Amino acid sequence: MKLPPFAYFAPSTLEETLALLREHGDESKLLAGGQSLVPLLALRLARPSVLVDLGHVAGLDHLAAGEGSVTIGAMVTERRAERSEVVGAQLPLLAEAMPLIGHQAIRNRGTVGGSIAHADPSAELPAVAVALEAEMVAESAQRGRRTIPAESFFQGFFTTALEPDEVLVELRLPAGESRTGVAFEEAARRHGDFAMVGAAVVLRVESDRIADARIALAGVADTPLRRPEAERALRGEEVTAEAFEDAATAAARDLSPPSDLHGTAAYRRHLARVLVRRALVRAAQRLGVSP
Ligand SMILES: Cc1cc2nc3c(=O)[nH]c(=O)nc-3n(C[C@H](O)[C@H](O)[C@H](O)COP(=O)(O)OP(=O)(O)OC[C@H]3O[C@@H](n4cnc5c(N)ncnc54)[C@H](O)[C@@H]3O)c2cc1C
Repeated sequence: MKLPPFAYFAPSTLEETLALLREHGDESKLLAGGQSLVPLLALRLARPSVLVDLGHVAGLDHLAAGEGSVTIGAMVTERRAERSEVVGAQLPLLAEAMPLIGHQAIRNRGTVGGSIAHADPSAELPAVAVALEAEMVAESAQRGRRTIPAESFFQGFFTTALEPDEVLVELRLPAGESRTGVAFEEAARRHGDFAMVGAAVVLRVESDRIADARIALAGVADTPLRRPEAERALRGEEVTAEAFEDAATAAARDLSPPSDLHGTAAYRRHLARVLVRRALVRAAQRLGVSP
């Protein structure tokens, strides 16, 4: 389908980009990999009169390990993050989730920042960002830079804390915690489809007891969802099948996931329980402790 008409700008610096957003505000949209935005334009679900292409903007494609964290520029492609040695070594949860995003052709173009800014509640990266307690760095011409914690970044269905004049510049993901096992599990109807439900788990075990747990779900609400009750249920427990089953049950309790042609709400609740349990078991196995 033909795209609707729009004015197209291809700035080469962040300053120029921010000035364009300041000038055009609500009328404009940033274009990153185009893997979500272009279909939305074709279907007339988005009608910006101005597109600002981030493809030539310098300084948005860095990927580097710092002290205790990895910083990923917004324009790093999903495929580059997937193949990155830094990500493989320091962010095993992200490394595990990346290949589950669509197909390789999509990951070749789709960007890490685009996925986060698009905020599809079924997407893998937002759930990973919430489970890792990542920070998003945004910049605008008028207010400069600010850092937004993942938990308050995702505000609703395809809605984030980003203002229309802001660019998501980078993500900061805490890395390399010791005695921490992670796992990402999802169920999709076909390889490459969006997940019906996804579960991201971070588990820290000390002296054979669970010192900390973080659980985030995709596909069960308008945003990626932390499950604090399930996390509390795990803290201080020994690594047992029963503790994991109880936590998985708590993670699925009171969920109101959507019902659609892919699955009913009851089926998605069932998936949430099963996937959280599986992810907990695998995260523990990575630490050499089997329930
Ligand atoms: C067939 C198909 C299957 C897919 N399957 C999956 C899947 O299984 N899992 C999954 O997670 N995703 C999936 N995707 C989506 C894919 O991951 C997209 O690449 C991603 O969601 C958006 O990234 P993008 O770089 O293409 O962003 P774009 O499409 O260019 O932009 C998306 C939105 O984010 C905004 N935006 C982009 N970058 C920034 C920025 N730096 N600052 C502020 N706003 C910004 C844009 O204005 C736009 O509103 C699929 C896509 C397709 C076409």
